[in-house]
Amino acid sequence: MNEEHLDRSQNIDSDEIIKFSRLASSWWDLQGPFQPLHSMNLIRLEWIIKHTNGLFGKNILDVGCGGGILTESMAREGANVTGLDMSEELLHTARLHAMKNNIKVYYVKKTVEAYAAQFSGQYEVVTCMEMLEHVPDPYSIIYACAKLVKPSGSVFFSTLNRTKKSWLIAILGAEYIFKILPRGTHNIKKLIRPNELLEWIDTTHLCVYDMIGLCYNPLSNSCRLTSNVDVNYMVHAQYDINHKVL
Ligand code: SAH
Repeated sequence: MNEEHLDRSQNIDSDEIIKFSRLASSWWDLQGPFQPLHSMNLIRLEWIIKHTNGLFGKNILDVGCGGGILTESMAREGANVTGLDMSEELLHTARLHAMKNNIKVYYVKKTVEAYAAQFSGQYEVVTCMEMLEHVPDPYSIIYACAKLVKPSGSVFFSTLNRTKKSWLIAILGAEYIFKILPRGTHNIKKLIRPNELLEWIDTTHLCVYDMIGLCYNPLSNSCRLTSNVDVNYMVHAQYDINHKVL
């Protein structure tokens, strides 16, 4: 990582934002660099719906929303969704796509830490998918997400496990052999083990309720849920007012 591009006070890695911004025009290309996100979207959406008893009418914040793949699909379920990202280009793509498809979503360029200082306890659901491994301080994001959710509300995280298998499949396979993802999308050192994520969550008022693996097959471009969390995985946590903060 280029240290001079790192602004710790804002918890942003500018190199990461630039990298994603360059791909803004191909965000909605189903065969493009974000093919795995498109392919896993229905499955993650259904998992979120199952754990929240439906999204209709709920206030949702999608942190690190990118061009709006999950954001839009939650709005289609009848939720009031706000998407946060720090890439102006991606937010532009997201706004345009929502407008063309007549979907109401609010897109805001703000860090989740700054947003949490303003809108603490306002959301029934907070989602933060495939984003924690792209920031200098993932704990700060988790803490802010916990702050934004209402009592009994749900927070969802997804990320990549720091294993040899992830390196083989998600980095060597996806970036170098199959060339599904652009080179440099993921850095093995920044991937997060489930025990690390669960420990961080446990220091907030959130309680972890479920964790599941997501298995993406690049050959068939399909995705399924699995009990194996060696590569991609998702976590569902809830604001429990009785949870003792460590
Ligand atoms: N959550 C989306 C996109 C994941 S890609 C999905 O799963 O479909 C990661 C996204 O995180 C990119 O859009 C990138 O711009 C965003 N991002 C990285 N660092 C960020 C930060 N500090 N604040 C907000 N967004 C950030």
